[in-house]
Amino acid sequence: TKILAIETSCDETAAAVVVNGRDVRSNIIATQIDLHTKYGGVVPEIASRMHVEKINYVINEALEKAEMTLDDIDAIGVTYGPGLVGALLVGVVAAKALAFTKNIPLVGVHHIEGHIAANYIQHPELEPPFLCLVVSGGHTHLVKVKDYNEYEIMGKTRDDAAGEAYDKVARAIGLAYPGGPKIDALSKEGNKEAIKFPKAMISDGYDFSFSGLKSAVLNYVNSAKMKDEPINVADIAASFQHTVVEVLVTKTMALAKAEGITKIALAGGVAANSGLCEGMSEACKKHGFTLYHPSKILCTDNAAMIGSAAYYEYLRGSRADMTLNAVPNLAIGQKAY
Ligand code: ATP
Ligand code: MG
Ligand code: FE
Repeated sequence: TKILAIETSCDETAAAVVVNGRDVRSNIIATQIDLHTKYGGVVPEIASRMHVEKINYVINEALEKAEMTLDDIDAIGVTYGPGLVGALLVGVVAAKALAFTKNIPLVGVHHIEGHIAANYIQHPELEPPFLCLVVSGGHTHLVKVKDYNEYEIMGKTRDDAAGEAYDKVARAIGLAYPGGPKIDALSKEGNKEAIKFPKAMISDGYDFSFSGLKSAVLNYVNSAKMKDEPINVADIAASFQHTVVEVLVTKTMALAKAEGITKIALAGGVAANSGLCEGMSEACKKHGFTLYHPSKILCTDNAAMIGSAAYYEYLRGSRADMTLNAVPNLAIGQKAY
């Protein structure tokens, strides 16, 4: 089954061709990051306009690189939520137009279920059930993946997402958007024990909270500024990252143990974080768990992951029609068509 996948939920215009959910024939990503950097974050209106400009080019590139035409394609998969409504609509409309004119089956995909499916591409042997820690710009979720299309949310952030905290802390110490990768790099030059930031473990259950940690970092920076004291940004980056990683690893291990799950996967942009990878793989080794982890390019937004998730949706007979619409707040496991 050859799937053409389209992803436009945020600031990446992406298309890919994926065969049988795991074999990536092309994975084209046109990133708009440079355009948003000067505003310190994604500007929805600019994102929509850039998607319109790039979408046809990206789709054609994906087909060309895969050495296929639309006539070879068995289904079209498209992200229809969650995300920015104007951004999502560009992909949804493009997918519907192709599906309609070429009479190709259409499948709607949940963006986060796509992030989770990136693990199927990276690890061809991986099958559910497993536990997935989803850490991205908008999500921090512990998800029990019971089957390809069956999810149970075991815990989630009560305020900021991990990636959001990264980006906000980065801005406070003078790093440009997106700050996650920059803090990650900078933390390698700092001392992770230098500053003690609060962990905000939320003792009961598996929920997260990152706004307290974020505020603690901002307060630290501001009070130093007021006292005209120098700050060591590398130490701040390293200490912040160390705290985030410890919280994520501790909760994930506790849940896996409680549920008797031995397979653990990471997903989303923050899964590209080197500290998280190291911390998680050490902890998994200690507990005898197996860790699954997509490569960097599959962690951040891309369409190959959407092609993988679309394949398993397609297999179970899920078909969207011309009424498919963007759903900005689509919940994990929810079907809105
Ligand atoms: P969502 O997937 O929740 O809709 P999104 O698509 O905007 O949100 P992703 O593209 O999955 O998010 O991830 C982007 C986020 O990942 C940004 O917050 C970015 O700072 C963060 N990120 C990327 N690389 C790293 C890294 N190496 N360390 C920490 N954070 C990172
Ligand atoms: Mg992005
Ligand atoms: Fe994403």
